[in-house]
Amino acid sequence: MSRPPVTVIRDIVFDLDGTLYVSQSFAATIQEQAAVYMAAARGVSPDEAQMLIDATRIRLAEESGTVQTLSAVCTSLGGTVRDLHAWFEQQLRPEAHLMRDERVVALLSHLGERFGLYLYTNNNRVLTMRILEYLGLDGLFSRVFAIDDAWRAKPDEGMLERILATIGRAPAEVLFVGDRYDVDLRLPEQKGCPVFLSQNVEQLLRLEELLTSDHP
Ligand SMILES: [Mg+2]
Repeated sequence: MSRPPVTVIRDIVFDLDGTLYVSQSFAATIQEQAAVYMAAARGVSPDEAQMLIDATRIRLAEESGTVQTLSAVCTSLGGTVRDLHAWFEQQLRPEAHLMRDERVVALLSHLGERFGLYLYTNNNRVLTMRILEYLGLDGLFSRVFAIDDAWRAKPDEGMLERILATIGRAPAEVLFVGDRYDVDLRLPEQKGCPVFLSQNVEQLLRLEELLTSDHP
């Protein structure tokens, strides 16, 4: 009897928002601005748009059995992900909400010495690069995959396959890290990738210990 080969993680794909930083106020601002965008698109008040968004999120979640992204809710209500992000780019000021955390900078710098690092986000490229720069995380990723690469939000099997092909590793060698299991981790796990759920900085910081304990 031969044992299955021990797989070694060689690359890490991080989600951005809620994973590499956590900010309730920025998350709330994104939801508010989505409601302002939907209000204009549908000719209703922002409060009415917010109620539509909430009801649609619940309906879609019930239909699909998984948590729904803002992109999916927006499309279902007749908006477009492109227009939503053009609005975000114009309105959102991540710098007003975020705080650089040197522990996260150090974590990614250390991990970058041993692993290929990638970013895969449902945020758009302009805001993503602004956020990375502000957090001191720019230049640490071999490649950034943003929603405007193909205007297909996570979870998306085609995009995931494209990303794995770009990285050029077997799924078992690519660890996915994210704060929403249904959005960031379920599909990669189904493909055979290891996954790590992180919803606050303390959980994120555990990655270094978890990954380096296997690599004496
Ligand atoms: Mg996230």
